[in-house]
Order: sequence, then C-alpha cells, then structure tokens
Amino acid sequence: MSLLKLSHVSAFYGPSQALFDVHLSIDEGEVLALMGRNGMGKTTTVKVICRMLHNRGGKVLFDGQDMAGMPSYRAARAGLGLVPEGRRCFPNLTVHENLIAAARPGPWDMRAVADLFPQLEERRSQMALSLSGGEQQMLAIGRALMTNPRLLVLDEATEGLAPVVRQEIWAAIARLKREGGMSLMVIDKSLRELRGIADSAVILDKGRSVWHGAIGELTSDVTDRHLGV
Ligand code: ATP
Repeated sequence: MSLLKLSHVSAFYGPSQALFDVHLSIDEGEVLALMGRNGMGKTTTVKVICRMLHNRGGKVLFDGQDMAGMPSYRAARAGLGLVPEGRRCFPNLTVHENLIAAARPGPWDMRAVADLFPQLEERRSQMALSLSGGEQQMLAIGRALMTNPRLLVLDEATEGLAPVVRQEIWAAIARLKREGGMSLMVIDKSLRELRGIADSAVILDKGRSVWHGAIGELTSDVTDRHLGV
C-alpha cells in the first residue's frame, strides 16, 4: 500500500481551478521529485497534501486514511512534515524555541538535528531572524524533522541559496534518504540534483500530472516538453 496516494485530485482558489485530475503516489521510504515549471501547481499540490487547501474533487489517502475534511494540524500529527517554500521560521523565537515548537517524540530530537546541522547547535540561543538564509533553511528542515514525520515534503529547499549552502542542503537530504527512515517529496529547480536523489518523479503541467515514473526513465524528450530544459 502507498503511504500517500492522490487520485483524480482537483483544487481551486476561489473560482479559479489550479489542479485538474492530479495523480501521485509515494511508497514507504521512497523519494519522489515533484516537478514542473513555475506556476504549474507544485505548491498547490503540497498545500492539498498538508491540508492547507482542501481538494474539491478526487481523493487524498495517507496511510490508507482519507484526508477529506482533515485540518492541517491533524495532518501534521498523522505524520506529514512540511518544509514550506520561503522557510517561514518564527522570526522572534530562538533556534531552540523554533525547534521545540512542534516537536513530537521519536528519533528526531535536538541531538539528531544538531548532528545533521551542527550550525544550528552553535546558534541555539539566537533569534531566527538573525540567521543567514541557509541557516534559516536548515532550521526549517530541522523543525519539520522534530515532528518525526513519516513523509517529509521539501518545497524549494535550496531556492535562493549560495551554491555552497545548496550543496550542504543536498547532502543533508541525501543523508535523510539513507538514514532518515521516512519518505521524501522534493520540489526543486535542479533536475541534476533531483536525478541524483529521487527514485521517481511526477511532472505537473498546467495543473495536471502529465508524467510519472522512475526518474531514470525521464528522457530529454519529456523534460524538453514539460520542463523546458
Ligand atoms: P512556483 O514554482 O512558481 O512556486 P508552482 O508550480 O508551485 O509554481 P503554484 O504556486 O501551485 O505553482 O500555482 C499554480 C497556479 O495557482 C498558478 O496559476 C498560480 O497563479 C495559482 N495560485 C497559486 N496560489 C494562488 C492563490 N493564493 N490564489 C489564487 N491563485 C493562486
């Protein structure tokens, strides 16, 4: 059974439809790349998965449970961890306070997060707003890990970061894949990095899932047509 399964999902912002008949599934321990050009519906799909936006049609199943009508805090409790686009740390809380804000029991505790991102341990008492962009991204990932998710969704986790910091984030994601004991959904602009880490991919084009399969089967034909690369 898939850990997460979306079938025939549609979603709207007011009268405007953003998702049409989206299909997607992730197995336990799988890393899925959710791809598509700007404005094609990736973040909207993430919002639907995390119940920040409710689908109007279709079904979202997490661990076999129908998520219809479920509020986002319950989705988090069920095991959905989100690293949102733009990081969204609590700016006036310290690193430590950000990390414990949503913590739940499990293998991901302060010690495990400090081991993944030693920089955060060094900045433990600093306000989040005083961190660099890369450190804030690490904090956003650490905070999501502290909820001990079964599925961690990373929405543009390397966006706007310097190349060296980006590499650190990719190395952390690779380590999560090796040791994290969770499934991952990764959205990123770097096809090269995604190819290195993902098992499978789904491509969204104009709000529709137009391709899915093993990432190794993604041909230049498909990427030219749907990703413009
Ligand atoms: P990006 O890579 O630029 O973040 P995306 O693939 O994540 O793009 P979405 O943000 O999901 O795309 O946007 C899908 C569509 O929904 C776009 O047409 C966008 O303009 C529209 N949209 C997104 N957020 C809203 C909103 N809050 N209200 C109305 N329309 C929205």
